[in-house]
Amino acid sequence: MIDLHLHTTASDGRSTPERLIERAARRGIRTCAVTDHDTVAGLERARLTGERVGVRVMAGIEITAVADRVDVHMLGYFFDPAHAELADFLTVQREDRKRRITEMLDRLETLGVVLPREPILSQARKSAGKAIGRPAIARQLVALGHARDINDAFERYLAVGRPAFIARRGATPAEVVKLIARAGGVSSFAHPGKLGLDDQLAPLAAAGLNAIEVFHPDHDQAATQKYAEMARSLGLAVSGGSDYHGPSAGRTDALGQVTLPAEAFDELWRRAPRLGPAA
Ligand code: AMP
Ligand code: ZN
Ligand code: FE
Ligand code: FE
Repeated sequence: MIDLHLHTTASDGRSTPERLIERAARRGIRTCAVTDHDTVAGLERARLTGERVGVRVMAGIEITAVADRVDVHMLGYFFDPAHAELADFLTVQREDRKRRITEMLDRLETLGVVLPREPILSQARKSAGKAIGRPAIARQLVALGHARDINDAFERYLAVGRPAFIARRGATPAEVVKLIARAGGVSSFAHPGKLGLDDQLAPLAAAGLNAIEVFHPDHDQAATQKYAEMARSLGLAVSGGSDYHGPSAGRTDALGQVTLPAEAFDELWRRAPRLGPAA
């Protein structure tokens, strides 16, 4: 089985890279990509664990781009994790995450919701590669009784248009597509069914986008078919995976629940500028 969308504790996942890959191996996953938000800090540990337990771990990332104040998640695969320009870009992304989370905590305080900042911000201070995000705030909101669960915390405070929402700053999807290509990788537009930005797919394809994430837990059968058709008509490859964030994330992202057919993986691999045919 192939799963190209997985998160670890390097961003907002619950499992360390080691635990994640061990779990993936037990689920029968043989090829995967770790795709943390705006960081490659989990890749090497995941890859080493994969060597031990028989899982091929590909380089991956989920970069948050911004289009008209709306977050657009761009997946990257097979790039060089040490690529200097990419590394610098990701450092800036993580800095903006800290800025945004701090402003969201400020905003919450003006709403009378005072959260301890240390547990949220200290993670980023301790490890430069750690990408913090809204789920860290959501967990505190739940722990202190301001929300029933993570989803409720987003609905009440953190989602777009909710009172503590602060917009991100950053590169456009087209800029991210080009950066991933320069780093030797392929790009895929993540879970388009969550966004309602379908009209951006054609211009992005013209800008060099390589794939659409067709297989995702938030895509029902109709959405899966629709995006498979759009990928075909735009000449794009397809990607897919479980978007696993951990055992108790309370979302429909069970590990190994959504996988990518082997032929689709081979086609995605063929699009990588840096590499030859799949081993
Ligand atoms: P951020 O990286 O700060 O933009 O936070 C986005 C992350 O929050 C996503 O990748 C999901 O893991 C999580 N998330 C977004 N919306 C929700 C929601 N409604 N319920 C639970 N988790 C969510
Ligand atoms: Zn996430
Ligand atoms: Fe995402
Ligand atoms: Fe994700």
